Amino acid sequence: MDNISDGLKRRFRDPKMREQYLKLFDDVVKDPAVAQFLKDNQERLSKQDIITGFSKLYEFVNLRKELAAGKQTFAPGYEPQLIVSDHHIEVVYHPTAKMVEHQQAQQRQKMVGMINLPKGLRNARIEDYDISGREEPLRAALTFIDECIDYQKNGNFPKGLYLSGSLGVGKTYLLAAIANKLAENGIQSMMIHFPSFSVEMTGAIQNGNPNQILNQIKQVPVLMLDDIGATRLTSWMRDDVLGIILEYRMQNELPTLFSSNLSMKDLQEQYLTYNNRGDSEPLKAMRIMERIKFLATEYQMVGPNRRNPE
Ligand code: ADP
Ligand code: MG
Repeated sequence: MDNISDGLKRRFRDPKMREQYLKLFDDVVKDPAVAQFLKDNQERLSKQDIITGFSKLYEFVNLRKELAAGKQTFAPGYEPQLIVSDHHIEVVYHPTAKMVEHQQAQQRQKMVGMINLPKGLRNARIEDYDISGREEPLRAALTFIDECIDYQKNGNFPKGLYLSGSLGVGKTYLLAAIANKLAENGIQSMMIHFPSFSVEMTGAIQNGNPNQILNQIKQVPVLMLDDIGATRLTSWMRDDVLGIILEYRMQNELPTLFSSNLSMKDLQEQYLTYNNRGDSEPLKAMRIMERIKFLATEYQMVGPNRRNPE
């Protein structure tokens, strides 16, 4: 650094000031983080670049001292880093690891709050998903998540999943794991237990506003209709609620997922064809099924009933 000091000496005529400045300079360049930075960038920085960028080095060292002393800095939660940009030394600020963790937790909390998941499913993690016998749906779930993340940027419609399989095989759990992963990526989803929703909507006709609920639900970024096919539907529920939701989501290409004890074929032939009074309406069933097929691909899930492990 002697040559640099020579360069600096020339800049200060007043010996007292020069001495003070040199001392300051010396302290800064000897700071281990600065020394390392200068070493890493010795090819890219001339002596003059270092002298010109001294104020940046000084800012960096000072801020790190304040952080180390636990002081509140002008940018709480951020830490400085030195970079070289076109031969200039610059200080950039990055969120600290603690800050990133805090922001992510907050974001997750916010999103999960909107997912409306049963308590036991809030911690369902796709990373922990036991895959035996369910490789295909899991792979499809991971692809769907990636496509949803891309969807934010390029608008390509991600086709959803229709998970079919018997009770306890893990359909709801997989949907919840998808919802949690989407939340981590800032994507809001809503899971609706379809049988309870039917009851709620029927109640809303008498003492609420079914259209308000309907409008909210049809627009959520990612909609999961859980356990569709479990209870009988009225024609109104099928055509004017389910039909409207699916139509809207199809027209607007909004990601939609389903889980059911029934295959798509059985859903159409056994569930959607007959209303709660037993009338057979195959054409109406077909219309609904067309929309479901547009929105989602069917995946059969097999395996033991995990609700009652032996
Ligand atoms: P389904 O919706 O198909 O009836 P659930 O998703 O409710 O089945 O799963 C049944 C039980 O098994 C739940 O208690 C759930 O938490 C648990 N479970 C399902 N899949 C997994 C998994 N991959 N890892 C851990 N627990 C699981
Ligand atoms: Mg379920």
